[in-house]
Amino acid sequence: MSKEELECSFCGRKKPETNLLIAGLDAHICDRCIEQAHGIVSEEALHTDNDGLSEELMLKKPRVIKKFLEEYIIGQDYSKKILSVAVYNHYKRLLQLNTEDDVEIEKSNIIIVGATGTGKTLMAKTIARMLNVPLAIVDATVLTEAGYVGEDVESILTRLLQAADYNVEKAQHGIVFIDEIDKIARKGDNPSITRDVSGEGVQQALLKLLEGTTVNVPPKGGRKHPDQKFIEVKTENILFIAGGAFNGIERKISKRLNLQAVGFSASKKEDTLDHDNLLKYIIPKDLKDFGLIPEIIGRLPVLTYMNPLDKKTLRAILTEPKNAIIKQYEKLFEMDGIKFTITDGALDYIVEQAVDYKLGARGLRSLCEAVLTDAMFEMPDGEEKNLEVTKEYAQAKLNKSTIKKLKAVS
Ligand code: ADP
Repeated sequence: MSKEELECSFCGRKKPETNLLIAGLDAHICDRCIEQAHGIVSEEALHTDNDGLSEELMLKKPRVIKKFLEEYIIGQDYSKKILSVAVYNHYKRLLQLNTEDDVEIEKSNIIIVGATGTGKTLMAKTIARMLNVPLAIVDATVLTEAGYVGEDVESILTRLLQAADYNVEKAQHGIVFIDEIDKIARKGDNPSITRDVSGEGVQQALLKLLEGTTVNVPPKGGRKHPDQKFIEVKTENILFIAGGAFNGIERKISKRLNLQAVGFSASKKEDTLDHDNLLKYIIPKDLKDFGLIPEIIGRLPVLTYMNPLDKKTLRAILTEPKNAIIKQYEKLFEMDGIKFTITDGALDYIVEQAVDYKLGARGLRSLCEAVLTDAMFEMPDGEEKNLEVTKEYAQAKLNKSTIKKLKAVS
């Protein structure tokens, strides 16, 4: 057979019609058929391989997960450990779902309690990044019961679908971070007298999602599905992480601790308590006293807390994580051929200001922005290619910045 007569055994194209024809024992295959076959293999793998979970994911042990978190998040050791185990168990549960085993592992949805800016969202983001799964961040305050003005609870899944680029399979293994969960708490301790219907109603609506159900989700703005009204999404494999500041919950914790201490070993207990960080003693009952309904608490079985950020931590957040704020500015300046350095004195000064603003680590970013905006505006097309930010420089820039006004108000 001459070269020209060779053909693809799958589609029958002659060699000249192909870009490449590969010979096997008794057959040939062309580049197009290889591509098509590859598509089929990938698609199949997605369906058979533990419902789309890669083997790599399965192998991530808690210690490995924690190590990854450490690259991006400073401190919060306890939360990192709790989350690593919860995430590991979550994905172990998915493995087990496909077996005949009669021990059914429950979902390990998580609730993180901690002041604003302590890194709750960052935890969820980092986990999603590590697992390479889609993440939706939603604010519980915008959610309302169906029929009320605001967003239905189902809109959470619309966001997740968007994050997954409308790949339902991917969305079903994604992570949802529900921020400000404390804002839908029932107001007041006595449910029968001061019933806050909207808050409790949203909690009720969330229950089903958290536990696992099938929801018909409107794709909303999904250009890819113009004629499809609803997309069916199963929530049983979605990992939910809820976060909230729970302002004032320390009082409930301290009250409970004191109550428990009455009687024996009261004085000893007082001595060993860390009064600056009562959150570390939090238990599910405190969340109930705050106004979360017991069913919600039951469906968020993994409870953890974030430590307040002290100066040392804030300083480390500026410079140490893999994508630390200062590293990001270095990169930005470098792209214009500018060498950016910042002195220890300037860093300490920024940290002190951030503590004053009480915005947690969030303040760091705004402060850096205020210090560096002039330079970022003027230097790209200027002569000077060196920028050294000293304490005096930072002070001068902050003093003329509007950010100062923020402080005056608060
Ligand atoms: P929260 O969700 O608790 O309000 P965020 O996760 O949104 O806080 O954190 C606010 C900002 O501070 C983010 O830019 C985050 O990267 C940074 N940040 C907060 N805590 C840490 C931390 N422990 N390590 C590194 N960065 C942090």
